[in-house]
Amino acid sequence: MGNIKAEYIWIDGHQPTAKLRSKTKIIDGPISSVDKIPIWGFDGSSTMQAEGTDSDCMLKPVYFVPDPIRSGDNILVMNEVCLPDGSVHKSNTRTRLVEIAEKYKDHDPWFGIEQEYTFFIGRSPLGWPEGGYPAPQGPFYCGVGADEVFGRDIVEEHMEACLEAGIAFSGINAEVMPGQWEFQVGPVGATDAGDQLWLARWLLYRIAEEYGVNATLHPKPVKGDWNGAGAHTNFSTKAMRENGGIKVVEAACEALGKKHEEHIAVYGAHNEERLTGLHETCSIHEFRYDKNDRGASIRIPMATVNAGCGYLEDRRPSANMDPYLVCAALIETCCA
Ligand code: ADP
Ligand code: MN
Ligand code: MN
Ligand code: MN
Repeated sequence: MGNIKAEYIWIDGHQPTAKLRSKTKIIDGPISSVDKIPIWGFDGSSTMQAEGTDSDCMLKPVYFVPDPIRSGDNILVMNEVCLPDGSVHKSNTRTRLVEIAEKYKDHDPWFGIEQEYTFFIGRSPLGWPEGGYPAPQGPFYCGVGADEVFGRDIVEEHMEACLEAGIAFSGINAEVMPGQWEFQVGPVGATDAGDQLWLARWLLYRIAEEYGVNATLHPKPVKGDWNGAGAHTNFSTKAMRENGGIKVVEAACEALGKKHEEHIAVYGAHNEERLTGLHETCSIHEFRYDKNDRGASIRIPMATVNAGCGYLEDRRPSANMDPYLVCAALIETCCA
């Protein structure tokens, strides 16, 4: 008889943007290492991962953290989806990142991801008047007060939960559009960044659920003169972080400019609605990098300019991007 609850979390086959799924298994605990967590399965025909007659998919545990919601010895388990024979399912983007991270491990790549998202109640962003619009953007970014920020209780509870789970959480802020927020994960290595961002997203949905609020990662949740939602991806290698590393940062920006379309292809669906050239973005049809410039595709941040070494910020990924794909693309382009 098992004695702990393991929440098995995986990424489904939904197109064009995959969604998170999870279910609970009672297992023997406490768990000390990931290989002690049993392999499990699910009905792939209900998750767009299999046809009806041959619908078994395998859940292969690859990462786990303490469950901050159920507490005790209970755990959250990130899984890769595999075919019944254990081979990689086509929806599984993690395996390839693991291979690329291993291949370029001497570069010691780090990632810090800024996850923007928007709270909705029914069809309106949280805090917006029913069927109408709030005052124009301006006072809301990093605002304080009941007339400017909406959902702080959820945001605080989410931050606590992520920290308790041991996620390398690095901060939060209220965003430019009311009802929109950001949290940051990192800097950490590529595979951890991907696993931890997916788990932090799951915790966000799960905690907001308690409040009857839903969090969306749509890159342009409200059309018109309202900021979209991105997932700026901050990236560095060992050479970038060393003295004089800004030269390596600039070389990486040049390499990224030659692969703009390939990167955009894996930077999230509906991103063209967000990357318009307005609202602190560079047009999706252009590539530009610059120091301190929030209207560029890639920004070399102030701290990096001042220190002469550090990291770059790829501002193109949208909020709904798959971090396994984005981290793999950045390593491949910048380290090859
Ligand atoms: P912004 O000014 O763009 O809003 P944030 O403070 O929101 O920046 O996010 C910056 C992110 O960059 C953080 O997650 C931080 O941990 C990460 N970061 C800092 N240094 C590095 C580095 N050397 N390599 C990769 N990421 C880094
Ligand atoms: Mn930020
Ligand atoms: Mn932001
Ligand atoms: Mn940013």
